[in-house]
Amino acid sequence: MKLREAKDLITHYLVGHKFVSPRSLRKAVAVIRSDPRYVNDLLNECGRHSTLTKECVRLRSCVDELCELEPTLFEKQAPELLLHLESCADCREVFWDLKGVWSETTPLDTAAAIPTVSKVVKRLATAMSVIADKLGNLHQIGHGPLARDIEPVAAAMSATDSRDADQGGLAETQPSIKRWELTDDEMDCAISVSVQYEADSGFQLSCEIGWASTDDGTPLPTQIEIYSSDDDSLFHAGSIEDFQKEPFYLAPGAYRIELTSQVQDTDYHWTLPISFEHSEGVQGK
Ligand SMILES: [Zn+2]
Repeated sequence: MKLREAKDLITHYLVGHKFVSPRSLRKAVAVIRSDPRYVNDLLNECGRHSTLTKECVRLRSCVDELCELEPTLFEKQAPELLLHLESCADCREVFWDLKGVWSETTPLDTAAAIPTVSKVVKRLATAMSVIADKLGNLHQIGHGPLARDIEPVAAAMSATDSRDADQGGLAETQPSIKRWELTDDEMDCAISVSVQYEADSGFQLSCEIGWASTDDGTPLPTQIEIYSSDDDSLFHAGSIEDFQKEPFYLAPGAYRIELTSQVQDTDYHWTLPISFEHSEGVQGK
């Protein structure tokens, strides 16, 4: 989408002249964010003050080029912008909206050395990494796709429950949940990954996949496998529906989540690297 087209769509959306689909709007928002001056003007027009810092403006003025860089080159050529990306959630959102979170590879049929058309493999470009502090709160580290803080349902429900007052004020400090919503526009689906830390059990991992194209309530069968990134050992394998039924815990370490769905004759495969750390030290580190 061109910048001009994106601005037109935003205008149509704001004044309500024309229907703008959520998908087009999302694309337009991603495109206009590369023009910080326009975003600033728009914020001012809407009576909101821009919160962009000097570094934000610098990063966004060259975000197109940064998206094209290999990670190692990015670090070499613009280390200060990479640091800013790690510390500024807004800029990170802009960066990943433009870059796209998936890198796609066409696997080769190793016997015939030709690309296999019946399998599409996508990999999350950068690992989802979190560190748990002493209170069990999670903090995202690195410059990967932005995770949102979700209030735990249990905490919200028990906030008025007086029994929690007897448990050392646990309800007040109920750790938050980090959640990544990773959309795959090509497949019209969204993979969401949530992590919550529990001192007794470790990192609780949840994973869901939602299909926009099958909102009649028939989700496509999806398999989930979880491997250790260190030695490829398998921690879990089964259907994603079964996975959602029981809480699933992992110790600090690096893992990868593998999801596979079959759509007509094609296998779709997503690989999501994820890592957990504890601020009190990771075993073996
Ligand atoms: Zn910024």
